[in-house]
Amino acid sequence: TSFEESGLRDYLLQNVKKSGYSKPTPIQKYAIPIIMEKRDLMGCAQTGSGKTAAFLLPILHNIMQENRNLTPGKPQCLIVAPTRELVIQIYDEARKFSIGSWVKVCLAYGGAASNHQSNKIGSGCHLLVATPGRLMDFVNKGIISFDDLKFLVLDEADRMLDMGFRDSIEKICAHETITKEGLTTLMFSATFPEEIQRLAGAYLRDYIFLTV
Ligand code: AMP
Repeated sequence: TSFEESGLRDYLLQNVKKSGYSKPTPIQKYAIPIIMEKRDLMGCAQTGSGKTAAFLLPILHNIMQENRNLTPGKPQCLIVAPTRELVIQIYDEARKFSIGSWVKVCLAYGGAASNHQSNKIGSGCHLLVATPGRLMDFVNKGIISFDDLKFLVLDEADRMLDMGFRDSIEKICAHETITKEGLTTLMFSATFPEEIQRLAGAYLRDYIFLTV
């Protein structure tokens, strides 16, 4: 299989090629079609498997397809990840794939001044990559709303629980606008312990389980 067969728009295929990715990794091969169809997904995959591109590419495809308009502070895709390093890594990859397009990608993480981050989000953001703490801080302050959300990604979910982000994760997933129809939720985790099974059972809808 090739990226060309995935049905991703040419724009993304060109940027994939520019990144030097010639062939999809297993997680990319299986997850991309599922996410293109907007199905919920529980993916068991390690760092290094190529999971970041596996969720970013079909999400960017969908955003580019339908959602050019954006309302300040109301992202269409929210990616939650445990650490600042991972958030920056996902952000860089999202920028790489969307470079030259109208898609705006923003960041939010703790341990840094929040003004710059919140100003950017306030000026318009399709895709937001955030750590749980700073994200909930911004939600509570009314800087971010989930109203326009089409995709929610919980990356390295097991690590987020290990790091004590359980309350934030539960709050995000149980948020009234998150539980509405029409939202695609993707969860990635290196391991699949009982706690993660419970989260998946509680918050994913009719989901596909994928392990690579
Ligand atoms: P990840 O598991 O998403 O953290 O990705 C691990 C590394 O593999 C990153 O440095 C990516 O840039 C790289 N990568 C992801 N997908 C591919 C691919 N299809 N071909 C070559 N490298 C890739």
